[in-house]
Amino acid sequence: MPTAALIDGKAFAEALRTRVGTAATAFAQNTGRRPGLAVVLVGEDAASQVYVGAKGKACAAAGMASIEHRLPAETSEAALLSLVERLNQDEAVDGILVQLPLPAHLDEQAIIAAINPDKDVDGFHVISAGRLAVGQPGFVPCTPLGCIMLLKDRLGDDLSGLDAVVIGRSNIVGKPMAQLLVDANATVTIAHSRTRDLPALVRRADIVVAAVGRAEMVQADWIKPGATVIDVGINRLPPEPGKEKGRLVGDVAFDEARQVAGAITPVPGGVGPMTIAVLLRNTLIAAHRHAGLPAPEGL
Ligand code: NAD
Repeated sequence: MPTAALIDGKAFAEALRTRVGTAATAFAQNTGRRPGLAVVLVGEDAASQVYVGAKGKACAAAGMASIEHRLPAETSEAALLSLVERLNQDEAVDGILVQLPLPAHLDEQAIIAAINPDKDVDGFHVISAGRLAVGQPGFVPCTPLGCIMLLKDRLGDDLSGLDAVVIGRSNIVGKPMAQLLVDANATVTIAHSRTRDLPALVRRADIVVAAVGRAEMVQADWIKPGATVIDVGINRLPPEPGKEKGRLVGDVAFDEARQVAGAITPVPGGVGPMTIAVLLRNTLIAAHRHAGLPAPEGL
């Protein structure tokens, strides 16, 4: 019998999107314009096209303006930088998102660095990372911010006395995740590909955040009974015979881990839906700051 509670990221994300939509309507009534998110896609990457389409739809559903720029794969760095600069200056644009990965001839760091940090709703700019590190208001990458929202919803805002292990040290998930956990008073260890005896480390953790990208790597016998497990990984298994596509799974062996954990996010339906909901939330906050209005409460 499974013992873990399921952390329903889909429901949480839907509720967040509704709150954002209500606040976006109030913003439009106050200012005479909708919050605006500019999304830039360069090239034909299939997954990126799906993400960009989903972001545009989510914006529209939340009463925000979505300004899409789809550029050919051979776009030069100078042309992309000049578009980013135009969006920086555009009063109708509150948030700018350049969909990654970019084609290989474009320097991702240079492009992200060109975004005005006050419009950096993805939170990937070095100034955004610095603001998070020193506790100044800025933008936090959407996926880890979504994870901490789910954790706080379950465990409360103050994680004092809890040991957390974050598996993965990427700039967009692992590192900001660890920072958010520290800020919530958890005692945090970051594990990565060079960590020795990962199972022993994870066994001590009250909170496990897995952000590796390796299908079902975290085993049930690594998990402390009652721990809260947040699975960020999205991995596609090889297709079963007769099937076209394999199943999507996380970084945690879900069915087994569910027997041990206190609460766990499923894949899909856990962390995944939070990312776009938090992007909308960040854009709404960017719009309020841009307009000199206080950010709405409860987001
Ligand atoms: P990444 O490849 O940049 O980083 C992976 C991290 O895992 C690295 O820091 C590496 O040190 C660590 N790692 C690799 N092998 C390991 C091992 N054997 N033991 C311990 N650590 C190991 O990936 P990322 O961008 O941080 O994404 C991680 C996962 O999260 C991927 O599956 C990605 O698809 C998923 N993801 C999901 C969302 C979402 O919206 N749900 C958003 C971003 C990323």
